[in-house]
Formats: sequence, C-alpha cells, structure tokens
Amino acid sequence: MNMAEWLSASAHLRPDAPALLTGTRVDADYRTFAARAAAVGACLASRHGVAPGDRVALFMTNRTAYFECLYGIWWIGAAAVPINAKLHGREAGWICKNAGAKLLFISDDTAEHWAEADVPLPTWSVDGDDYLRAREGEGAAAPLPRETDDLAWLFYTSGTTGRPKGVMLSHGNLLAMSMCYFADVDQPASRDAVLYAAPISHGAGLYNFPNVRVGARHVVPDSGGFDADEVLTLGKQLRDVSMFAAPTMVRRLVDAAKMRGENGDGIKTIVYGGGPMYLADIRDAMATMGQRFVQIYGQGESPMTITALGREWHGRADDQRYLERLASVGTAQSVMSVRITGADGKPLPAGETGEIEAKGTAVMLGYWNNPEASAAALKDGWLRTGDVGRLDADGFLTLSDRSKDVIISGGTNIYPREVEEALLTHPEIREVSAIGVPDPEWGEIVVACMVLEDGAEADDRKFDAHCLASIARFKRPKRYVYLPSLPKNNYGKVLKTALREMMAGK
Ligand code: AMP
Repeated sequence: MNMAEWLSASAHLRPDAPALLTGTRVDADYRTFAARAAAVGACLASRHGVAPGDRVALFMTNRTAYFECLYGIWWIGAAAVPINAKLHGREAGWICKNAGAKLLFISDDTAEHWAEADVPLPTWSVDGDDYLRAREGEGAAAPLPRETDDLAWLFYTSGTTGRPKGVMLSHGNLLAMSMCYFADVDQPASRDAVLYAAPISHGAGLYNFPNVRVGARHVVPDSGGFDADEVLTLGKQLRDVSMFAAPTMVRRLVDAAKMRGENGDGIKTIVYGGGPMYLADIRDAMATMGQRFVQIYGQGESPMTITALGREWHGRADDQRYLERLASVGTAQSVMSVRITGADGKPLPAGETGEIEAKGTAVMLGYWNNPEASAAALKDGWLRTGDVGRLDADGFLTLSDRSKDVIISGGTNIYPREVEEALLTHPEIREVSAIGVPDPEWGEIVVACMVLEDGAEADDRKFDAHCLASIARFKRPKRYVYLPSLPKNNYGKVLKTALREMMAGK
C-alpha cells in the first residue's frame, strides 16, 4: 500500500476536519490538504519529470507545507528525502547527490544555506508564488498504488561521525511503525492535535501517519521549533495535544512548567526517546506534569519502533520493580522481536549484557547504495543496533550505552549510563555525560563532564562521595570537568565524540 492512501481516506471521511494548523490558525482542512498534495504531485510529474521511485529531497524548516510536499511526493509514487534543516548547505548537497534526488524543496530560510551547496539540482521554494499557485491546481484523484517494499522515505542518519547513510524505509516499514504506534504508544483520536516541536525531517515527522489516519490536527508552532512556553500555551489552547520530545526537550518543558506553576494542562501525551532519559529526570517530569509520558526506543534503521514503555508502566508506582522498569526502555513493540547477543554473535540469556538486535517489519530495507554497510547491519533479518543493553526475564530492555561509548578502565567495562544515572540524582547537577579518556595506567579513565545548576559549587569531593553512595568504587569518575553546556547535535543528543576530542586536548 501507499501511505498516502491514509490521507486520501481521511479526506473522504472527514473532509471538513481541520488538518494543518500553524499555531492555532487553520491552514487547511483534510479535503484541502489532500487536494494540495495531489496538485503538488501532479506538478512534480509534469514539470519536473518526477517518476514513480524517483527521490525528491526536502531541505526546509518546520511548516505545514512540509506535509503537502511529502504527500505530494508519495501521491505520485516517488520517495521523499527529508533533510535536517539545520545542516550546512554542503552537507545537504552531499545527501541530495548521494540520494540521486531529482528536485529539492526549499524554504526562504534554507535557500541561503543551499546556495553554499554547489550542487546543480532544480529547487522549488514553498515560499514562492509559484508553489502557492501550483498547490491549488488539479491532481490525480487517488495516490498511485505502491508495493509494501517500495521506497517511501530515505532517512539520512544523524551520525555523530563519518558520512550519513541513507536508511531505506518502505511504505511497509512506515505502516508497521504506525500500527505499533496504535498498539504500543498511544491511541490517537480525531480531536487530537499533534504538535511538531521537533524537526519534521526526523522522528516527530514520522509520527504524522497515525494522526493522518484518524484525521487529527497537525500543528506546527509559530516558532517552527521548540519553545517550552509556547508548547505549554498551545497545550491549553488546542487541548488533546500529543508530541514527540527528545529528553532534553522534556527537561526544558518541566522547568518551564515549574516556573509557571503549571502541570502541562491540555497535553495528552509526550512521547520521549532518541536518547537516554535518566530516572531522576522522568520522576521529576512526572511529579510536575503527571502521567502524560510514553517512552520509545528506536533508531533510523527501525524508526521509532524497537521497544516502548507505555503510559501504564509509568504509573505503576506500586509495582515492586517499578523503578527498574521506569529506568528501562520497555518491551518489544508489537511487530518486533528483540534479543541480546554476545561478542560471538550468539544470543545471550536474560540478565546478560550485550549488543541489542531487533527484527521485524519496521526494520529498514537496507542502506541506500551501500551494500557493505547493509550487510554489516543486517544479519538474517536481525538489525544490529550498535546499542548495548540487557533484557530481563519479562522482556524489559535496559540500555547501557552505544557500544563505542563503553569505557574500559583497568580491563573492566564501565557503562557511562550508570555513572550518569548516579550523578544525576545529585540536586546540584543539571546535566552530565561520562566519557572514557586515555590513561597510561588504566587504559581509560572515567571523566564526568557536568553542567551544574545555577549557584552550585564545583566540588569534586562532594560529587565523589555522592557516587560512592550508589555505584562501585571502580566506576567513579577519576576526573570531574565543569562546563557551561554539553555539546549536542541538532537533535539534542550529547556528542560524546566531541567531548572526547575536547578532553584529549586538555
Ligand atoms: P537515530 O538513528 O539518530 O534516531 O539514533 C538512534 C539512537 O538513539 C539509538 O541507537 C540509541 O542509541 C539512541 N536512543 C534512541 N531511543 C533511546 C531511548 N529511549 N533511550 C536511550 N537511547 C535511545
């Protein structure tokens, strides 16, 4: 099936329902949304020669037209290549070339970056009159039928090192992800408003599908991105809001809610994931905002869909193993199997730590034009995630770290996450990232890079004593480094590689 069929169905079933909103302003109902997608698709085909299977890239900031373009591409059976709008023009250019894109959608605010790309590729600006005229034109009555394995979304991994790889997601993958959303994450309804406070080019955008299916409102905040105060205000204005938020966004939302003396009223669901959520942070978030949280664990290669820790588990404070479960990323989503393997690639029993592997219909087709990388990542259908963790006997998965982040000190593996969890229970520590730094005696030593709360005193001994109270002596950081902020990528993930480089220079 073609995922655009869900838009077509909603346009028939709920033509007048508000579909696309900027802030509280309705830009299009479902009838208009689908008609625009069809018209944009028709133009792609007639003017730009885009054929089924061709790739069309998008390098633009969050806006409602983003969805018109995505669905326009799918309407005619082509594949979308959404590019993070914060990338350098040259990086975007590299992606377009690698993907063999036929055309690039841009917006006024990315056009100037794109100029640096130096890639001869036709562009179409969604801010131009031409686009506004074209979307009012005529298009095919229904989306072109597609097979399950046909490419829908070429998703370039954010990659903290090296060149990004193009993850090939099929219509079938997106369907599997969406069905898991219904089964394991949340139950969206037509009255809901899904808020895109994170980039549409990434996970937040992927969650449009279940919401298109039920005919919910798709809301791009006026700021186009994440502003905690704006989110809290929109929650109250729009009601029944759901959103995807990286853990750093959740933190900022909780801080803002505390400042305002609010509890996130009007926000139905916050799906968090994409990076570690520390126990201290999620407990604080729930104490401030209540039971609005669902966690997912996934990666571009199995988008948003490996495990989930549902709302129910966030609330089970009476469960004997509550804290253990809250610190986990939950259990396998409905279409997925998860296993842990050892260094020899063989599955390990419950309780043992090793590489996390996932198998199921959400797993990518492979990497675009990169058979070696595809063969390394996929073995007999099992996706090697590069993440390290353990499963308990009930199937709850607890992540330790990325395999490359594990610190080997004195021949013993130390998982930075454990050290970070321990330090974060200290009220004066705002953020922490533990890394391994080469050391002549130990091989590597644990260095804790920390951002303190305002007014807190940088005192190694105090933090050392705090660690001793909860983790083994040998895991304690041998050095504490105090920083004004931690280096993060465009999705808010801490760049451990950058931290390691920083520390190597010291
Ligand atoms: P990306 O492909 O850029 O979405 O990054 C995926 C990676 O983010 C995963 O392989 C994990 O290392 C990390 N990640 C995703 N979800 C979680 C989560 N819930 N908790 C901890 N780390 C996560």
